[in-house]
Amino acid sequence: MQNQDTIGNVQLMQKINRQKVLDLVRRRGPSARPEIARLTGLSSSSITNIVGFLLERRLLVETGQIETRDVGRKATLLKYDPSACLVICIDIGSNGVRIALTDLAGAARVSKEICLDHALVDREMLDLVRREVGRLVEEARAAGGPAIAGIGIAISGLVLNNDRLVVSSSMHWRSLPLKELFEAEFLLPVFVQNNSLTKAHWRLHQGLEAGERHVVFMDLAMGVGIIDFYDRRINESVIGELGHTTVQKDGPPCFCGNHGCLELLCSVEAVLRQTREALAQGRCPVLRALRDGKETPLDFAEARAAAAAGDADVQGILRSCGEFLGIALANVINLFNPQRIVINGDLLLTEESIFTVAVEEARARVNEVLSQNVRFEKVDVGPDQAIQGIALYLADRIFELGTFEF
Ligand SMILES: [Zn+2]
Repeated sequence: MQNQDTIGNVQLMQKINRQKVLDLVRRRGPSARPEIARLTGLSSSSITNIVGFLLERRLLVETGQIETRDVGRKATLLKYDPSACLVICIDIGSNGVRIALTDLAGAARVSKEICLDHALVDREMLDLVRREVGRLVEEARAAGGPAIAGIGIAISGLVLNNDRLVVSSSMHWRSLPLKELFEAEFLLPVFVQNNSLTKAHWRLHQGLEAGERHVVFMDLAMGVGIIDFYDRRINESVIGELGHTTVQKDGPPCFCGNHGCLELLCSVEAVLRQTREALAQGRCPVLRALRDGKETPLDFAEARAAAAAGDADVQGILRSCGEFLGIALANVINLFNPQRIVINGDLLLTEESIFTVAVEEARARVNEVLSQNVRFEKVDVGPDQAIQGIALYLADRIFELGTFEF
């Protein structure tokens, strides 16, 4: 019995050390064996064994040589190879589902789109997704390439209880066991996460400036979520439901039970709702002329075009949207004191002034020292980047101890 315990302990230590070395090279970039030994505190003979194993599994590859401190001696650089394994990434949005077979960095081998028919009930939609995933798994296995190491599912909604409970108002899911459903069918590790968080992962992997340790990523989508990163790690104690913080005391009622929530006042939908109301009141003359009696539903591009053409009413709506965003940003700065706030969302990319107004408003509302500490950045996380974010998130989770079969 004691013998088995000892073997178990040795195997566990082996796993921990392999993970430690791989994690270091993944995060740090190309590294030589002596550096890896120094930074992990492992002996050089252990490093030789572990690196040998990781080279065999193709998780590390050799890439050139560098001079070492010992005169005349060179050391081989090792780098992480994300093509060693494949993963399946599923991005479930309110308009469609994208499914991709990618490597661990999100480079897609196959990518498919399923349009969401809102007449489909949850189970029918999930059955469609599962059939597509099944096809991808079969094709990948038949091709005999790298093994599939896991499935990542990103959704617009709350993911609670360690991936096991999904609640999504946009999908009308109250408590869906997505993880169990997929794990039971495909016998692979499955991770479910909020899609703002996986997008944040994509941005984080693009790199930060030297000395930047504290970054907040804000995703302006159907809702408004924030993800708090410290030292490149997610602060999991932050739930980030910024969209349901109050920015207007007697504002419109929200489905969450509150009034004047940020996401009701700062979103593409909010701009459209207010513009429709203004049109109904006989305002927005430029927009009215541009639409020229058109009866199709108003879209955001039309509102933007009217603002650009000088419609003061639409400009006012966009400005107020930017001001509400600025109030929310000031609250984020006062709570977190981040060095960088990255903001993603169609609302900003299509209308320069909303971002500018929001940043001015935020800076005017916070202490000068906090204001000087923070910089603002707009990003555009498109469908490809969103898939990459899922794969990168998945790689982090897969290499957590106990998931990957080292
Ligand atoms: Zn709300």
